[in-house]
Formats: sequence, structure tokens, C-alpha cells
Amino acid sequence: MIKIGKPQVKSDAQTATLSANITIDGDCKEVWFKVDKKFEDYLCYERGDAYVIAVLNYAMRNHHDIVSEAPLSEDLYYNIDKYLVDAIAQYNKDFYRPQITAEVASDRLPCAGAVATGISCGVDSMHALANQTAMKFKKHNITHLTFNNVGSHGEGEHAEKLYQARLERPRAFAKEYGFEFVASDSNLQNVVLQNHLKSHTYSSMFAVYCLQKLYSVYYYASAGYKYSEFTLIDKPAICCGSYEMLSLPLFSTHNLRVYSEGENMSRLTKLRSIVKYAPSYKYLNVCLKDGDNCGKCEKCVRTLLGIDALGALDNYAEVFDIDYYRKHKKWYLQQMLIQMAHNKHDYFEMYPYFKSEITLDMRIKVLPYTIENTIRKLIPRDSWLFNVLKSIKHKI
Ligand SMILES: [Zn+2]
Repeated sequence: MIKIGKPQVKSDAQTATLSANITIDGDCKEVWFKVDKKFEDYLCYERGDAYVIAVLNYAMRNHHDIVSEAPLSEDLYYNIDKYLVDAIAQYNKDFYRPQITAEVASDRLPCAGAVATGISCGVDSMHALANQTAMKFKKHNITHLTFNNVGSHGEGEHAEKLYQARLERPRAFAKEYGFEFVASDSNLQNVVLQNHLKSHTYSSMFAVYCLQKLYSVYYYASAGYKYSEFTLIDKPAICCGSYEMLSLPLFSTHNLRVYSEGENMSRLTKLRSIVKYAPSYKYLNVCLKDGDNCGKCEKCVRTLLGIDALGALDNYAEVFDIDYYRKHKKWYLQQMLIQMAHNKHDYFEMYPYFKSEITLDMRIKVLPYTIENTIRKLIPRDSWLFNVLKSIKHKI
């Protein structure tokens, strides 16, 4: 059983905090969500919505019912109870279908009408900014940029440090281009322990629903699944984004509409919009390492090849070492072939742009990777032979 106490708001001179006690099997802990004091009026203490979403995936995986002392918004409660949990439980035998007990609140909360998206300055957030600003659809143009600490930076002190370090670039972007910046810190990930890959939609919607009186539209960056890849089945390499086409509309109400921004789009399709969005020339940051783009990690390589394919390299001299890329183009093309040998979809899309530059020795060098991948496909994972080959590979 998971019991959620009534959320409360406390504030000091600089910050405002929404908090509620969550009791899991008798163990009670406070889960807090902290923002700048100027957002105090938008913290939603009237409903248990944010907290029920926060524990929902955990409850299904760990077989708990949920009781919320605060009422739940009718639309959201209905969507979760009548559609979402049944759909997920139907396709996953190990999952439990939780009973959710709470009063129903049918009155509408006030809403400031902000339109927001998360910002990391990576491809997904830059795509949202490139596509959801300066539109004729006035109620849908982004006004607020959010940066949350609800699991994407890890857990504990390490997450707190990483969150603080990563905060500055998005903050500077928001200031330079005139967006409101909503930074939020939370201990959710330290209390409700779960795999972020499997629960990011839920923890992110916790952050959104804590401020549900602020937002009328929220663009949540798509996890990159195509419509044809939609699945509710919880396989090891698949994240909860595989069913966000279902979950995000169900996490929407008459007050707040959540979109899966950029869904069904490939990386190159997203980049096509980004290269026309001038603020990205100064701020695009995709690196797997923290700090400036290293130019050599998988995400930097993929992005450099993408902007080269689209003929936009020179625009990105402030954020990438373009001279280094040009001098070492052969190495980058080799990386593309290796990723293709591993069946990474993004690179197949770029290949036609570089086909004429691929030499015979590049193709020969990639042969061991192609053979390895072919063997992998033929031998079932976790079979006796697969494990023997894996151990031989590690010894080499
Ligand atoms: Zn990098």
C-alpha cells in the first residue's frame, strides 16, 4: 500500500516548496519539489495528482494499491483508472493493476496559461523550440523553459551536483531569448527508487503536475519511437517512452494538454528544423560528457555528421570544433559505418549523403563489426554459445 498525504506549500525568502508524505508499506518519507518563490502561487497543494503520477509506475511494478488523502482531478483520475493502468497491466503479466482510492475533484483549478517544455539544449529541446515558437497558434507558442531534477541526473548528492552544473546553459539560453525559466529541484528519485529509463514519463509529469496551475500546454520531448514501434510490453531495452503516444494524452486534462513533442521523427528530421533555428548555433549541446561538446562521443559524432549532411557545419563553429571535424572526416565516416554495422537507425538515414566519400579500405575495416552483428542475430541472446563467444570477446 502507498499512502499519499495532503500536499502542502512552504516558502522562505527565495524558494517555495510543495511537499507531501509518502508512506510505502509503513515507511513514511517526505517528497518535496522546490522552485523559485515567484512560482509559489502555481504549486498545486489542492490535489494529489502529481504524487499519484509519481508513484504509479512504481506501484504497478511493486504491487501496491494507492490511497491519496488529497482529491484527484476528475479528468486525470478517470484517464488513469479507466484506461492507462488497465492497458499496461494487460500487456505485462508481472505488473499489478493498482486500486486508486481518492475523492474526485470536478471543479477546475485556476491556470496561468503558460506553455512550457524542458530544456537541456540538446537536439530534442532545440527541436521543440525551433518548432513550437513564433507560430500563428498563439496559445501554443512556448513561453516557459523548465529544468527539473527528478531522476534524469541520477540520484542523491551526485545528482544534485550534476543538476547544479547543468543548470547554467539552459538558464543563460532562457535569459538571452526571453523565456521564463522554471528550475525545480526534488528528492522524488531518492524516495521512490526506480529505473529512470523505465519511469521518466511519470517522474517528469510529477514535475509538470506540481505546477499544474501554471501550465496549459506542456511539450514533453518524444523518446524517439516511431508510431510503428508503439508497444506497452516492458522489454529490457525499451523505455516507457514506447507508449507515450498513449500515456501523454491520458496525462492531459481540460486544463493542461501534454504533447509528445517531435514524436515519430528521426534525428535527422529534427536536425532539419534545428539548423534553421539560429539560437541553436550558439547553444546546441549534445555531448554525453558534461560541459562543452567533445566532438568525439557517439552523440557528438552523430550530430556533427547530421549537420554536415544538411550543409550547416559552418553555423556551428561556436559549439563544435569544425576544423577538427573536417580534418578528420574519414574517422567520422568510419564511425558511421561501425554504427550501421550495429544497426543504429540514425546512421542509415545519413549514409546517402556521404556514400560517395566512402572508400574501399573503410568498408574493409568495418567488416569485423558486420560479422559480429550477423553472428549476434543468428545466436539467441543468453544462449550457451552466445555467452561463450561473449567471454572470448572480453578476453581478446
Ligand atoms: Zn561529446
